[in-house]
Amino acid sequence: MIMNEKLKKISSKLSNRYKDSKSLTSIYHKFLSDVQNNQEYFSRYDTRDYVKMVIYIYSLFETGGFEWGDGIIKNSWVGNYFEFGEGDYAEDECDNCNGNGSIDCDLCDGNGELECSTCSGSGQVTCPACDGDAEDEEGDECSECRGNGEVNCEDCDGGGRETCNNCGGDSSETCTDCNGNGTVESDELNYHNTTFITWDKNLINRLRNSMELNNPTGIEDFTPFVDEEKMFILSIEQDRGEFRTEVSPDKIYCFTLNPLSETDLFIRRNPESLTTMDKPHDYMY
Ligand SMILES: [Zn+2]
Ligand SMILES: [Zn+2]
Ligand SMILES: [Zn+2]
Ligand SMILES: [Zn+2]
Repeated sequence: MIMNEKLKKISSKLSNRYKDSKSLTSIYHKFLSDVQNNQEYFSRYDTRDYVKMVIYIYSLFETGGFEWGDGIIKNSWVGNYFEFGEGDYAEDECDNCNGNGSIDCDLCDGNGELECSTCSGSGQVTCPACDGDAEDEEGDECSECRGNGEVNCEDCDGGGRETCNNCGGDSSETCTDCNGNGTVESDELNYHNTTFITWDKNLINRLRNSMELNNPTGIEDFTPFVDEEKMFILSIEQDRGEFRTEVSPDKIYCFTLNPLSETDLFIRRNPESLTTMDKPHDYMY
């Protein structure tokens, strides 16, 4: 990480680009898109300093100096909370059908045909006229089977095969593991991971005390106390994971709260996904 004094100089230099941005959030979003569009230029800076640079740029515009920015960096906390939707289990490809929704018909092994049940696949049945004797009552050659004792099976026209009665000749049947959807519900829940910075002393105290009491903490109780002027959303990411703590749908859980000055915020491949951690490790298997 670069020393704050040096960061201020860089921020001052960059600030010309952000003159039209009025809020911390708008500077932040413009900064992120600049990072994406000028990766070579920004590669010389430590990604962990990006948020500080944004705060310093805003501070310079709003107050004409860096004092406000220094205060925010010193007194802010970074938190993550996770939201779950109703029935929000992640779907996996069905192993049984490889995602196709159907499998080879079990009865005909995917051939669509079965051995003719009338003639057992031979195509021939005992001649009904001579009952297989090959001759008629007078001892002459049976005219029906011409002395063979057998005639072509009528059910399969002598071919020995009949359409599979399980798949109707389609060769496949609906996969029962996934009911034909091609996907099955996994043990992992989809969630939204919101990373925020706040410098609201009241909110920080409430979050900290509550987290000491029980963890995870639903922050919906805190919503009335959130001063949006003192909070700044860094990212909202979608992810999935298996949780060992039971989570209720439509609830928000707060998992982390760390001082900004001690938090390594980094920007990953996609600058939109700035986060303090990949997954809420403590609560996942
Ligand atoms: Zn037959
Ligand atoms: Zn016959
Ligand atoms: Zn079949
Ligand atoms: Zn399936």
